[in-house]
Formats: sequence, structure tokens, C-alpha cells
Amino acid sequence: MAEEVNPFESLQEQIDEAAEYLDVGDDVIERLKHPERVLETNLSVEMDDGSIEVFKAFRSQFNGDRGPYKGGIRYHPQVSRDEVRALSGWMVYKTATVGIPLGGGKGGIIIDPDEYSESELERITRAFAEEITPLIGEDKDVPAPDVNTGQREMNWIKDTYETLENTTEPGVITGKDISSGGSAGRVEATGRSTVIAAREAFDYLDKDVEGATVAVQGYGNAGWITAKLIDEMGADVVAVSDSSGGIYNADGFDPVDAKQHKRETGSVVGYSEAGEEISNDELLTLDVDLLVPAALENAIDEELAHDIQADVISEAANGPITPEGDDVLEDEDVLIVPDILANAGGVTVSYFEWVQNRQRFYWDEQRVNEELEDIIVNQFDTLVDAYEDHDLPSLRVAAYVVAIERVVDSYEQSGNWP
Ligand code: NAD
Repeated sequence: MAEEVNPFESLQEQIDEAAEYLDVGDDVIERLKHPERVLETNLSVEMDDGSIEVFKAFRSQFNGDRGPYKGGIRYHPQVSRDEVRALSGWMVYKTATVGIPLGGGKGGIIIDPDEYSESELERITRAFAEEITPLIGEDKDVPAPDVNTGQREMNWIKDTYETLENTTEPGVITGKDISSGGSAGRVEATGRSTVIAAREAFDYLDKDVEGATVAVQGYGNAGWITAKLIDEMGADVVAVSDSSGGIYNADGFDPVDAKQHKRETGSVVGYSEAGEEISNDELLTLDVDLLVPAALENAIDEELAHDIQADVISEAANGPITPEGDDVLEDEDVLIVPDILANAGGVTVSYFEWVQNRQRFYWDEQRVNEELEDIIVNQFDTLVDAYEDHDLPSLRVAAYVVAIERVVDSYEQSGNWP
């Protein structure tokens, strides 16, 4: 089990590490380590039995130097102020890493959504939407899905916002259903960029994706699409997991069938084609070519990092490796494509959705996928150049160096330069 690591402190350590390689004053770096504002609110919502329940919720707007705040909304019992602050900061450096004109934000509600009916979840979501309506807008702050939220919640938030504001503004939120103004390719985008990033990393190491073995931790939107797309590229998915545990078959199995099993039973565990049941820690330490953490933060701490055997890690999850774990993996020459590039497909296609909403002109899926591919491949090359040219310790540090430079450039242009 991973040690308790505060994700906000991890974010700040990552910024400090990159700052060592940048000619930027400490005062400016300090500014980049804290959110501009955090809303903390208590939602009082009527349950189906007529009782009232109170839910703590947050929206953090970390930095808007490069454009409107942008970032998902998470429903999970472990949501906390520090987690939301960290996730909103990672969004700043993610949008800057992929070079899209947006800032970073994040939101969350402390809730286990499995314990509530759909009508309760709708009332909870609409109550949250009412709270954040003054803060959001297509030029202010544009939320999106994250863990345990999806098109359904995005549609509810859009509808609540538009009703309260008496407007039509589909670009206020992304990750919507296509019929509510969503983009083709958005559902698959996070897994798609994770796979493109992994393929580029394999290429960099002169390794083949075809025939490579892959383990994926977490089988929600990010994890399962990653498994499906890497399987389509000819790799062998040998292990996947969710919060109930993992499954393993050295010969590989069909990730689509495994997903069907999860849809029917609630978990991948018990899927008949996978021979063995394994724990999440066992999955993470399997001898595979590619490991994809696609669950929550801090999955790989210092202790577990010593047992990692994968050659490449493509981070579908945000913050899955603690800074101490990162140091160990760096020493052991594991090539890690950092979250702020690998999983940036979600926010990149959210950006495309926002662009399409504003133009009221919609692209087909092929165009979305091609534009996404260009951005991830080009920015991977930019990180590799920074990594090699400046002899940086890792692609993660390279990503923060490139991203911080871009944020600082915008800040400087705004005339706030001290
Ligand atoms: P999701 O809710 O669709 O799926 C989460 C999955 O993780 C589920 O299968 C769940 O069972 C599993 N899980 C939870 N706790 C676990 C544990 N301790 N061990 C193993 N599995 C566990 O969420 P998602 O949207 O796929 O998000 C997963 C990660 O990807 C998060 O870190 C999220 O921030 C990141 N991410 C998602 C998107 C997106 O577009 N959905 C974009 C960028 C980053």
C-alpha cells in the first residue's frame, strides 16, 4: 500500500526541481506554486427519502495566465482541498506542455457516487453547478470530467449554468454528450494520448509496440481505452485492474471482453480469460514492457518503485508516482512519459470541443484524432529536445521546464513582471 503523500506537496516539489534548470526568479516561481483561488462549499441536498445530506465540494483556479482555467471535476471519497489544489496545478502545466491556450483548474466533491441514486446524483451535481456558476464561463473557467464523472454530469452542469445565466453557452464545459455539443473523439482522447506517448517512447528506445507486454492499473475511461488502443496496435495486454483487484494472463487477453465483464459484474476480477487474480501492487511490479498507471495519485511510492520492472511507464493517471518513487525509477533508467503529456489528450480534445462550441462548427472524428496526434507527437519531440539539449534528469523535469517557461512568458507579456 502506498505511503500517504500529499499531492500538493508533490506538485510543489516538481516545480522546485524544474526551477533549478530555469533562469526565473524565486518570487515568480513561488507565485506558480499556489492556486489563485479555491472555492470550498457545502452542498445541502435532499435525498430520495426526504432527508438532507451535506457534501463538501471544491473548485480550484490555479493559474489563468495562458487562458481560461481548465480542468475536470472528480467525485471520490478521497477528494480533499489539497488534492484539488494539486490537480488544478497539474492542469496549468499540462495545458502549457501541450501548448494550448488555457490555464488550469480542478474541482471535486467528497462523495462515493456508488452510494447514491441517479436522481440524487443529479441534484448533487446541479447544486454544485449552482455554486460554481459565478466562477465558470467559456472565457473564465471551463470544467470537464474526471474520476467518476462523465458526459451525464457535464450535461447537467451545462444545463444548470445555461438556465441560471439565461443563455446558450456549450463551451462553458467540455466532455459533453455529442448531442449537447460534445466533440467526436473526446471519450477516447485520454487513452489515445497515453498510447501515442507510449508509442513515441518505444520509438525513442528503438523498441517495438507490436508484441510488447502491457499492464494497466485502473480500468475506467483512461485505463480501458488505453488497453483497447494499445491492443489494436499489436501489443499484448497481460494485466489490468480496478479498485477490486487485478487479473493476469501471461499470454494476453482481449481488453474489450474484459471491459464487458466489468460492465456486467462491476469489476474486471473474475474475467474468465485471465488465468490469475493479482493485487494492484503485483500488477504494478510485473515484468512488462509498458506499465500504465490509470487510477489515482501515489500508486507508486519509493518502496514499490524499487520493484518496478517495466521499461516504459506512460502515466494515464495524474500524479501516479510520488517524487521519491520518481527518483528511484530515474536511477533505474525507466523511461517515464509524464502525466502532463501522456494523459493530455483529454484536455487537448476538450480544447478542440471548446473551439468547436465557440465556432458552432463541428469536426469529424478523423480530424480530431489527427490534430491530437500532431500535438502529442510534436510536444513529445519538444520534451526530448529539452531533455537532451539541457541534460535534464527526466522527461518529467523537461516537461515542467518547457511548461513553466511558457507560463512565465505569458505572465511577462501581461505586464505584471516585477
Ligand atoms: P474513472 O472513474 O473512469 O476510472 C477510475 C478507475 O480506477 C476505475 O476502474 C477504478 O476502479 C480504478 N481505481 C480506483 N482506485 C483504484 C485503486 N486504488 N487501485 C486500482 N484501481 C483503482 O476515472 P478516469 O477518468 O479513468 O481517471 C483515471 C485517472 O486518469 C485519474 O488520475 C484522472 O485524473 C486521470 N485522467 C483522466 C482523464 C479523463 O479524460 N477521464 C483525463 C486526464 C487524466
